[in-house]
Amino acid sequence: MRLNYNFILLLACLIAIFFLFLFSKLISAVFAVVFLIFWILATASPKIHIFGAVINHGSRKSKKVALTFDDGPYGSASEKILDILKEKNAKATFFVLGNNAGKYPRILKRMTAEGHLVGNHSLDHSSLLFLKSRKNYLKNMTASEENIFSVLGKRPRFFRPPWGLKYPEMMAALESKGYLVILWDIITLDPFSWAGKKIILRKIMNNLRPGSIIALHDGRDTKIDYPRNNIIEALPEIIDGIRAKGFEIAPLDQLIGEKAYF
Ligand SMILES: [Zn+2]
Repeated sequence: MRLNYNFILLLACLIAIFFLFLFSKLISAVFAVVFLIFWILATASPKIHIFGAVINHGSRKSKKVALTFDDGPYGSASEKILDILKEKNAKATFFVLGNNAGKYPRILKRMTAEGHLVGNHSLDHSSLLFLKSRKNYLKNMTASEENIFSVLGKRPRFFRPPWGLKYPEMMAALESKGYLVILWDIITLDPFSWAGKKIILRKIMNNLRPGSIIALHDGRDTKIDYPRNNIIEALPEIIDGIRAKGFEIAPLDQLIGEKAYF
């Protein structure tokens, strides 16, 4: 396997910890724990951008927010969400999986035909994507892009990594190709069917700020026919609640001032 930056960085830290261990076991243990916490936070937190540029909100000065949906297109669940968005005249961004785009091309077309944006969310939501080299990471996401391009005739610039996890190798790969990594500043428990409407609504309404990017799910990573009733039930009230607080629901390209496609 080709060595990548992640492994080199990890290896360097392990060597440093080893030499610290020879010097003092206590200092070595403290260093190892601090490094581990730092690495986990930098990987998983949308707010920490030390591995590369990440967008997790728009301007904090105007009362606009964006709705985003991940892991679709997901059959009738995505259709119901599109129906609600149409009825409420709200535009959203769908971060789709390339495999699902190939499975539901008609729904993918409907998304853009009704004024929504489409972003890339990898081919298959692979949990092991972070272990891939730069070349293989790009291979996965460009395979997804090809599926999207074959249906829509356009290539998304917006990319949301599976689980929102970011790594130096992956960030360097995406940056070199001009992709924008889009995360969020509000995420709810909506992927889990046990999280009801109230829980989802409370999380959004309590955390809403100008420029917020709200992450929701019309699909559920690679699972098949996972119930999406909680978000379908909550969505009309989410939209009404956001507007009642004086916020405008804006497309993501407008919110962050960047083009959605190459
Ligand atoms: Zn996802």
